[in-house]
Amino acid sequence: MKKCPFCAEEIQDEATKCRFCGEFLTQEAKEQKLKWYYRTPFLIFGFFIAGPLILPVVWTNPKFSRTTKIVITVLALGVTGLLIQLSAVTIDAMLKHIQDLDSTFKGIL
Ligand SMILES: [Zn+2]
Repeated sequence: MKKCPFCAEEIQDEATKCRFCGEFLTQEAKEQKLKWYYRTPFLIFGFFIAGPLILPVVWTNPKFSRTTKIVITVLALGVTGLLIQLSAVTIDAMLKHIQDLDSTFKGIL
């Protein structure tokens, strides 16, 4: 017998779930309880699709500690900022290219 860390009732050593309070006692059991949108593959996929819009899901995720959440948020915002900068540079280059084309055509016509 062992003591449930949540309700302090005596439970079986092999138990993965406490029969008194219903808490999961092993990491695997906790992962199974975790909703699909809290699983890491979804979070990574979601970030690539939705960017920082995925952050509320990170913040409500019971799997992550406060520190982990802050680190993920900072990283996500950093990557987003980088992508915005990259897009700005790309758009600048495109505009310049269009202007070059424009002046080339003006020379011909
Ligand atoms: Zn319990």
